[in-house]
Amino acid sequence: MDVIRPATGEVYAQVAAGDALDVDAAVSAAVHAAEDWGRSSLAKRQAILQQISDGILRRLDTLAEAESIDAGKPISLASELDIPRAAANFAFFAAASSQWASESHYTPGKAVNYTLRQPIGTVGCISPWNLPLYLFTWKIAPALAAGNTVVAKPSELTPATATMLGEICNEAGLPAGVLNIVHGTGPEAGEAIVKHDQVKAVSFTGSTAVGKRIAGICAEQLKKSSLELGGKNPVIIFADCDYEEMLNTTVRSSFSNTGQICLCGSRILVQRSIYEKFVADFSAKTKALKIGDPADPQTKVGALISEGHLKKVLSYIDLAQQEGGKIECGGHQVNLQGEFSGGYFIEPTIITGLIQNCRTNQEEIFGPVVTIMPFETEMEAIQLANHTNYGLASVIWTNHLARAHRVAGALHTGIVWVNCWLMRDLRTPFGGVKNSGMGREGGWEAMRFFTETKNVTIAYEH
Ligand code: NAD
Repeated sequence: MDVIRPATGEVYAQVAAGDALDVDAAVSAAVHAAEDWGRSSLAKRQAILQQISDGILRRLDTLAEAESIDAGKPISLASELDIPRAAANFAFFAAASSQWASESHYTPGKAVNYTLRQPIGTVGCISPWNLPLYLFTWKIAPALAAGNTVVAKPSELTPATATMLGEICNEAGLPAGVLNIVHGTGPEAGEAIVKHDQVKAVSFTGSTAVGKRIAGICAEQLKKSSLELGGKNPVIIFADCDYEEMLNTTVRSSFSNTGQICLCGSRILVQRSIYEKFVADFSAKTKALKIGDPADPQTKVGALISEGHLKKVLSYIDLAQQEGGKIECGGHQVNLQGEFSGGYFIEPTIITGLIQNCRTNQEEIFGPVVTIMPFETEMEAIQLANHTNYGLASVIWTNHLARAHRVAGALHTGIVWVNCWLMRDLRTPFGGVKNSGMGREGGWEAMRFFTETKNVTIAYEH
């Protein structure tokens, strides 16, 4: 398959188009390796996973460059967020494998029960293009730490760093068959992984539509699935917030990775008394963001992932105007000169004047497009925030302690950030409700997902 460079629109590489036969070979290798890996000592697992983490850090610059080219993302983001986080995922779950313990329940005078959490066997991991190595490793690392073997598929749009990860794993001494990376499209290679009867669990991050399809296939086979899907995240700004901190972070939470992060806030709700000021200040800061060559360290907004995605995002900007929205800033494709003339660049876009109950405010756009809506009361803010079929993340800006807790408790999302955004502690549960998914990743949640729970009762008196 051709791989297109988003910043130029040109084919710059090719990748294998794996199919069901390739998946079958990968699953065979994984099943073959499962017993040894599942019985390997915790010290061995920990050491190898840590070696992989170290190998990622040793190649940080090369991986960041590859990620930036493949995904069109600013090199600063790839080298400060994507690749360090991929290394951290392996280091974190290396440690988790040695700290993992399970419960025991004492039945007074009769028995003791203990819980075994055993590897499932062979599992499937499928990830999207927006944070390629970051999300790929976020699944693979806990699956391996828990003692499973893995068949994994990165997005066909961003295969480069997954290929390099395979080399790093070999160098780190991961035994053959323990991790099998299959490239290919979703319908071909991805679905073959999900359908394979030797793949006992599937961890998926991607769109809601594909997540529902995967859930259906897994349901037929009573196969475990963990689904991290789309979002339409609210950012609720109260007048009593720390304004400068809020403003700077809201620019990031809106437009980082060209708005292509499932956690980006796309609906900004602002208390009426500071609404006009916020729209003006936020627009001014947004206009100052440098759009262009992802390899330039000064660039803040890179390219969208594909021509199709560019068209989709532009069509939502048209729709927003048809729905009565006013473009406060941006709204157009950016046509750069020279090498980047064919790239998929777009201005960060701010839209006001829409009601919550319109398609622009209900559907995931997954680009650098946000809407701003005013609210008067805390109750109104909560209602607006919850009025969507998604429920991944939300952000609250306030210095009112009781209100922060009240609103956090009332929001229908799996993740709430108060006075911050994308502040991640890898031990915390990660995931969404409603159309944003099913199940949680992170810390022990991930280790539990990737293990089968077995209770053993030892009676000592009848
Ligand atoms: P996508 O659903 O199109 O693809 C995701 C992955 O699934 C890719 O590897 C793709 O090849 C594969 N796939 C596609 N069809 C498949 C099928 N029928 N069977 C098996 N696999 C299949 O999503 P995308 O466009 O790559 O990613 C963007 C989406 O991901 C957005 O909706 C975004 O919100 C979501 N996302 C969610 C999170 C989260 O943690 N909740 C994180 C990042 C991205």
